[in-house]
This record gives sequence, C-alpha cells and structure tokens, in this order.
Amino acid sequence: MRRADPHPNLLPEGAGAIVPSPQGFGRGLPLIRVEKLHKQYEIAGGQAAPVLHGVDLTIAAGEFVAIMGPSGSGKSTFMNILGCLDTPTSGSYFLDGKNVAGLDNDAQAALRNRLIGFVFQGFNLLKRVTALDNVALPLLYAGLSKSARREQAREMLKQTGLENFTLSLPNQLSGGQQQRVAIARALVNLPPLILADEPTGNLDTQTSREIMEIFTRLNREQGITIILVTHEPDIARYAGRLVRFVDGRIAHDGEVHGHAEQG
Ligand code: ADP
Ligand code: MG
Repeated sequence: MRRADPHPNLLPEGAGAIVPSPQGFGRGLPLIRVEKLHKQYEIAGGQAAPVLHGVDLTIAAGEFVAIMGPSGSGKSTFMNILGCLDTPTSGSYFLDGKNVAGLDNDAQAALRNRLIGFVFQGFNLLKRVTALDNVALPLLYAGLSKSARREQAREMLKQTGLENFTLSLPNQLSGGQQQRVAIARALVNLPPLILADEPTGNLDTQTSREIMEIFTRLNREQGITIILVTHEPDIARYAGRLVRFVDGRIAHDGEVHGHAEQG
C-alpha cells in the first residue's frame, strides 16, 4: 500500500500492492515545488531561446490541477521538467521534498518511476504489443515475475474499463480505448502523481468526457495528484485548480469555477 504510507521512500521498490489505497499520498503536503524556474533552449547558431521566465508554483498532494495557455506558452516544457524528462536552465524543483537538480540521471529515473505516471496526447503505445503487455511494460524495472507483472497490468486495465481488451493490439482499439490503455500503463507502478499533456487532444467530446471521469475518479477515490494540460475550458473544469501560462509565466492561478458535473 505504497500510496497510503506517509513515508513511502521506506518501502522497497515494487512492493507488491495491487489495489491502490484510497487514503492518498501525504494528502495536502507539497508534492511539487518550483521556484524561479527558467528554461531556455539552445538553438542553431549558439542562440538561446528563452521559454520559461521564472515560474513559481507549489502543488499539494491530492490536487487536480489544469494547466492552460496559448500554444507556445511553455506548458509542455514545464511538464517535461516536472516529469524529470528535461532539466531547467536555472531555478529549483523539489519533488516529494527532494531537490531534483541534486540527483544524478539514475536517481532521477528512479524517482520518476516511483512517483510519476505519464499520459500523452498521442497515447505512445507500442504497436506490436498487446494492451496487457503495454501496461505491464513499466513494471520491468520493479523486479516482479512476468506473471506478477501481467496480474498487476490486468488489474489496472480493469480500473480503466478494459478488462475485455487485454489481448488487443493498439490498432484494434479506438482512440479512447488506447488512451485508457495509456492511463492503465501510467497507473501500473501505483504512482502518487499523474502528468497528462493534452490527453484528450485527439479525442471527440464524449470520449474526452469519459477519460476525464477516469482522472476524476483516480483523484477523488485514490488521492492521486493530477496535473493536466488542456486547451479546452470544458476539460479544465474537471480540475479543482487552474493555472494559466502566458509567454512562459504564470498569468493566473486559482480555483476552477463552474466545476464539471460528474455523471
Ligand atoms: P506549449 O506546450 O505551451 O505549446 P512548448 O513548451 O511546447 O509550449 O514550447 C514553448 C516554446 O519553446 C515554443 O516556442 C517552442 O517552439 C519552443 N521549444 C519547445 N521545445 C523546444 C526544443 N526542444 N528546442 C527548441 N525550442 C523548443
Ligand atoms: Mg504542448
């Protein structure tokens, strides 16, 4: 029951809980804290393209945060830094109390595997591999047997309503089903945090709603912290907090008004 433990670091990697805890992971404690975060990309000719200009943000465990903002405003850059997939040019990032900049690549990867599940707009599934094995893939590093990995993957597919599609290949599934596989894959390590970058960007309205109901359930019932980028106000309404980026800065940060009806 990793997620229930206020000191999850004390548990061995891959400690075999399958059913996530409803308690949440240190609910209310800061899970993410960034201070004076700057990012610039080096571009051709030795030039620097500044993208983030001093972002300060704290997100507590158990929050559901929507990030909005115009295309090019730095949302994905910011998400990649939160996910330890990229490093800031300056500023600090504390994830679960750890200064990410102070960790080497292996330690960052370990932190990422333990704490973060990713969901992307394009699903990013392996084409030749069944839904079940796509979901089981992140468990390769958890030191579990193949049958234990598949058992846990099956459990996660059940949570996203795909128990009857375990042996389907991605191209045999609809877009919404593929995104459910991707969400199950993001959940399989029982991470306390999900980062989703435009997860409904390729889906129709009704399917988007179904996907957002899954995120809402994970947040409410399991206390999973969710940070989700979207450009659709109707999607942002599922969150409790809205952060708006403009030109690499936070232009607005507040509660979501007109919360989406759950149904
Ligand atoms: P958003 O997700 O809000 O649309 P991004 O974070 O993807 O914005 O991009 C912000 C800016 O950074 C854009 O101008 C984009 O072209 C630039 N950018 C993003 N990734 C790179 C990169 N790897 N190298 C150079 N510039 C990049
Ligand atoms: Mg983006």
